[in-house]
Amino acid sequence: MRLSEFPLNTLKEVPAGAEIVSHQLMLRAGLIRQLAAGLYTWLPLGVRVLRKVEAIVREEMDRAGAQELLMPMVQPAELWRESGRWDQFGPELLRLRDRHQRDFCLGPTHEEVITDLARRELKSYKQLPVNWYQVQSKFRDEIRPRFGVMRSREFIMKDAYSFHLDEACLARTYERMYAAYGRVCDRLGLAYRAVEADTGSIGGNLSHEFHVLAESGEDAIAFSTGSDYAANVELAPALPPTAPRPAADRTLERVATPGVRTIAELTAFLELPAAQCLKTLIVQGEDGGAVALVIRGDHELNAVKAEKLPGVAAPLRMATAEQVQAAAGCEPGFVGPVGLGIQVYADHAALAAADFACGANEADAHLVGVNWGRDLPEPAAADIRNVLAGDPSPDGQGTLAIARGIEVGHVFQLGRKYSESMGALVLDAEGREQPMFMGCYGIGVTRLVAAAIEQHFDDRGIVWPETIAPFQVALVPMNPQKSEAVRTAVEPLYQALLEAGVEVLLDDRDVRPGVKFADIELLGIPHRVVVGERGLAAGALEYRSRRAEDNEALPLEGAAAALLERVRQGIDRHQR
Ligand code: ATP
Ligand code: MG
Repeated sequence: MRLSEFPLNTLKEVPAGAEIVSHQLMLRAGLIRQLAAGLYTWLPLGVRVLRKVEAIVREEMDRAGAQELLMPMVQPAELWRESGRWDQFGPELLRLRDRHQRDFCLGPTHEEVITDLARRELKSYKQLPVNWYQVQSKFRDEIRPRFGVMRSREFIMKDAYSFHLDEACLARTYERMYAAYGRVCDRLGLAYRAVEADTGSIGGNLSHEFHVLAESGEDAIAFSTGSDYAANVELAPALPPTAPRPAADRTLERVATPGVRTIAELTAFLELPAAQCLKTLIVQGEDGGAVALVIRGDHELNAVKAEKLPGVAAPLRMATAEQVQAAAGCEPGFVGPVGLGIQVYADHAALAAADFACGANEADAHLVGVNWGRDLPEPAAADIRNVLAGDPSPDGQGTLAIARGIEVGHVFQLGRKYSESMGALVLDAEGREQPMFMGCYGIGVTRLVAAAIEQHFDDRGIVWPETIAPFQVALVPMNPQKSEAVRTAVEPLYQALLEAGVEVLLDDRDVRPGVKFADIELLGIPHRVVVGERGLAAGALEYRSRRAEDNEALPLEGAAAALLERVRQGIDRHQR
C-alpha cells in the first residue's frame, strides 16, 4: 500500500476528551473517528487491525470445533418476551418498531435468536453437541459510552453458543472454549487472567471472564497470592472476620456534627478510624419500599452482591432523597441503623464492630459508642462489600491482591435457562424430550484492539504485536524527489516485498523524513526500512525494529528475504 493513496491524518496533540491511552492513540494514528457518542467509523488502517483480530478469533473458534453462522442484528420482541428478558433488560436494549407497529430490538447479544434456531434445527441428541459462532455488530445503549471503542454503543463481538444433551458435554465444550480464549489472548501478545465472574443478566451457573491487565481497566480483579484463585471483585466473597466482636466499652452518646456528612469528614471530626465509623446506605426495596445496608466506613459497597439479597431491588438503585427522608427522617449524610423501621443488612465486617459511630437519623448529629444487640437489634448479616488487598483468599489459601483489568471475553455455562423458557428440546437415547444444556461465549473484537494498545505503546505511539499490526514493514524513502538513486532503489524493493507476501506500507508522501518517521512510529509498524542516498552508496538500507532504539545496516542485496524472515520471527513469537 502506498501512503500517498491514503488520506492519513495523524494528530500530534492528544485529542480532547480521550482519557485513556488506547483511545488517544487510535484517534491520533487515524484508526477510528467518532460519529456520535459511542459510535465509531473504522478507517482503513484500523480495519486492517480489526480484520486480523477477527481472523485470529475465527481460527481459534474453528480449531475449538465451532461453526460460523450469521444472525440478524434486528431481533423480534416476541423472542425476548419468551425468555422474559424484554422486561428485564432495561434501557441498554434499544427497542424499535417497524412500519407494521411490531416491536423489535437491536441485538445486544443473541441467546434468544440462537435458541430459536436451535429448537427448529436440533431434534435429536444425535445432532449434539453443536457450537455455533458469529462475528457480528452488537448494540447496547450504554449509560456511559467512553474510552472510544473500549465501551461503545455499537461494537463487534464474536459470540458463540453451544448446545448439549447433558452437563458433562457442556463442561467439555466450555473447557475447549476457555482454552481457545487463552490462545486468542496469547496470539495478540496480551498479558491476561481468567477469573471467576458474576453471570449478570445473561444468567447461568458458572462463568469466567478474561481480563487484559491494564491500569485503565474498568474492572478490579482479585487474585490470591497463595493459590490459583482469581475472581472479579464483583463476585469475590469477603470472608467474615474470624475474631469475635469485642465487648462494648462505651456508652451510647449523641454528638452534634454540624455539616459533617461524609465518612472522611466524620473520621476527622470524631478522630476515629474509618473502620469504626459505619455507613448506612438506603437502597430501593423490591416492593417499592427501602432497605438499609450498613458497611464499615473504610469499605465499599458491592452492588452485585447487594442486589441479590432478599427484598433488595435488582439492579441495585439508591433510594431517592424523598425515600431516605421517609425511611430515616433525615438527609442521606446523617442516616444510621439505630431506630430505623426498615429491613437492615449489615456487612460481616460492620457487624464485628463495637463502640462504633454512625448517623443519628437527624440533621447535624451522629451517635458514638454504639453497640449491636445493646443499642439496636442484631441485624441480618450479609457479605455486601468489595474485597480489599490483604483480605484472606476465599479458598483459604493466601491473601488477596487486586489488579485492574479490561474484560475482553466472557464464557458462561448457561444450563437450561433459555432452552426451558423457550422450549428448545431434543429427544434423548430413550426417546424422551429433554431441554438442551447451553453454553455461551463472547469476545469483544473491537475492544480487543483497544486492549492490545493499552499493553503495547510507548511515548512515540503504538507498538503493535506483530500478529495484528496493520502493516508489517514500513518502507521509507528519504527525499526521493531529490535523489534519483533512492527513487531507483525503492520501487524494486517495494515490489520484491509485495511478491514475498510482506504487508508493506510505502511512505511515498512528499514530506520531510522527520514527519515520516514520527508517523510510522505513531502507527506502530513493527519493522522500518529507510532507503537513503548515503546507505545506498554502501549497498545498505537502514533497518530499525519498532522496539529498538538504534538502526542496523541491512544489505540491499537480499533485503526482501531478510525482512520476510524478521516478519516471520516476529509473528512466531506470539503463536503457540
Ligand atoms: P462489561 O462488564 O464491560 O459491560 P459485559 O459483561 O456487559 O461487559 P458481555 O455481555 O459478557 O459483556 O459481552 C462479551 C464481551 O463483549 C465483553 O467481554 C466485551 O469484550 C465486549 N463488550 C461488552 N460491552 C461492550 C461495549 N459496550 N463496547 C465494546 N465491547 C463490549
Ligand atoms: Mg455491559
